[in-house]
Amino acid sequence: MKFELETHHRNTPDADLIADLKRVAIQLNKDKVTLDEYNDYGKYHSTTLTRRFGSWFKCLDLAGLKRTRSKLNIPNEELFENLMEVWTKLGRQPKYDDMFKPLSNFSSGTYEYRFGSWRKALESFVKYMNEGEIEVEPKSLKRKPTSGHKTKRNINYRLRFIVMRRDNFKCKNCGRSPATDSKIILHVDHKEAWANGGETVMDNLQTLCSVCNIGKSDLNLT
Ligand SMILES: [Zn+2]
Repeated sequence: MKFELETHHRNTPDADLIADLKRVAIQLNKDKVTLDEYNDYGKYHSTTLTRRFGSWFKCLDLAGLKRTRSKLNIPNEELFENLMEVWTKLGRQPKYDDMFKPLSNFSSGTYEYRFGSWRKALESFVKYMNEGEIEVEPKSLKRKPTSGHKTKRNINYRLRFIVMRRDNFKCKNCGRSPATDSKIILHVDHKEAWANGGETVMDNLQTLCSVCNIGKSDLNLT
């Protein structure tokens, strides 16, 4: 991390700041530059540029570069959804060292940066999942779905996660889990098929592995 006095570059012309950003892009041979990359290779600090031009996106636009998705711009919901997917794929609570592509879209560092620590990120995630609205009841009874269902067919990701957690991330049919076999993919399935009047509620949902779920679909034509 560079130390610099804020006033130091106050008189640097706009064009010089943008030219330096372009230079870093050329040096890295990339069409976009992240804040971290600029801080490593730039002549100034990224805050000098963002203060001058308003945002990092603005700076990139002015330099004719592509916009990077800064870790500052990722909504919490997206971080939580990714964590939910990693958790589901692993069949257990993810560890700091699990958070790499292709398993995870975001690194543990991104979570640390946002929440203060990896542990705090997990705590925020659990809080979010527990507090979140789970559509086990219809939002409005006034509008009756034409199918006669009280719930929607789609199982939102929070409900999917809660069902899998209840079932210990194991297939209810064969007992296999991604925690012990990384090839296993878990699905959440309607016990009574939605097409046959089954509702999207906890009691009518179960965790199945993709193999058992496909077997079931063949029989039930759902
Ligand atoms: Zn199975």
